[in-house]
Amino acid sequence: MNAPAFVKPLLKPLLIAAAFAAAAFPAAAQERVLNLYSARHYQTDEALYANFTRATGIRINRVEADDAGIMARLKAEGTASPADVILLVDAARLWRGEQDGLFQPVKSAVLDKRIPPQLRGADAGQGPQWVAVSTRARVIVYDKASIKPADVDSYDKLAAPALKGKICVRSGSHPYNLSLFGSVLERQGPVRTEAWLKGVADNLARAPKGGDTDQIRSVAAGECAVALTNTYYFARLLRSTAAADRDLVARVGVMFPDQAGAGTHVNISGAAVARNAKNRDAAVAFLEYLSSDEAQRMLADGNNEYPAVPGLQTDNPALIAMGRFKAETVPIAKVGANTPQVQQMLDRVGFK
Ligand code: FE
Repeated sequence: MNAPAFVKPLLKPLLIAAAFAAAAFPAAAQERVLNLYSARHYQTDEALYANFTRATGIRINRVEADDAGIMARLKAEGTASPADVILLVDAARLWRGEQDGLFQPVKSAVLDKRIPPQLRGADAGQGPQWVAVSTRARVIVYDKASIKPADVDSYDKLAAPALKGKICVRSGSHPYNLSLFGSVLERQGPVRTEAWLKGVADNLARAPKGGDTDQIRSVAAGECAVALTNTYYFARLLRSTAAADRDLVARVGVMFPDQAGAGTHVNISGAAVARNAKNRDAAVAFLEYLSSDEAQRMLADGNNEYPAVPGLQTDNPALIAMGRFKAETVPIAKVGANTPQVQQMLDRVGFK
C-alpha cells in the first residue's frame, strides 16, 4: 500500500477496525471490487469502467498488459490469481486461454440474448467460456493505381498467379492471420486450405514482417500492391489528420472479400470469467454490462471496431466511409480450434 508516511500511523488502526467490521457484516461492509486483466487500452474504456462502478457500486481494479503477458501472468498465478475478468483480443488467443484452463464457463440469459452464438466460445452445456465484446473484419487493402478491385474480391484470389510478388503480410503465425486461415479451413477443408496457403506464400513480395499498419504503409509506398489488415487499423488512418496519412488513404483501396460468397472474416475481442475468480457474481454482471447498448458503443468506438451485438450502429465516420458488409457466419469457436492445424500447414508450406 502506498500511503504517504504521515497517514501510516492512522492507517493501521483503521484497517484493523475495517477488518472487524467486515467480520461482523461480511457482505455489506466490504468494498465490492472486480479484478480485471485487460489487453485493451483505450481512453473510452476508462469511461466504460466508471459507468459500471456508478451503476453497481463495484470498483474495477485493473491490471493491463498485452495478451501474451496476461496469459503468462494467469498461468504463473494459478489458483492464487486475483483475476476475475479477462479481456483478450482475437479468437486464436481466447481459444488458447480456454485450452490452458484459464477460464470458466458462464451461463447467462442476458449474454445468450445479446451475443450471437457464432461469437462465443464452444458450449458443452455449462455455457461458453468466452464471449465477444466487439468485432473487427480482416480485409484486403490494395494499390488503387495497379490493382483492380475484381482481382482482390475474395481471399481465394490472394493465391492467384496474377498477384505473384505483390502481397505484403505480417507473420502467418500471428493470431490475426491464424484465425483468418482457421476460418478458411473451416469453410474449405484441409486440402484446399493448404494449397491456398502455399499459393499465398508464393505470392509474397517479401518475408512477413511488421504489423498491419506497416503493411498498409508498404502498399502506399509501392513496396507491394496488396495486403491484409484488420479494419480498425485502416479506420485509424482514415481518421488521421496528418497530411501523409491523408495522402496514403487516398491511394489505398479497401476490399471486404467474399461479399458474393461466405462473407468477410470477422474476429473479436472477448471477455472471460477467470477460472479462479473470487468475485464470480460481479464478473458475470460485468460481462452482462459489456453487452449493453451503451457499453457496446463505447467498446467499439474505443478502437474503431464494430459492436458484437447485432444491429447496433455506431456513428464512427471511418467505419461509415468503409461501408456495410456481409460478415461470415463461421463460428468463431471453430476458428480458434482450427489454429493449431493451421500452424502445422504454415510450417509445411514455409509460410513464416
Ligand atoms: Fe490489433
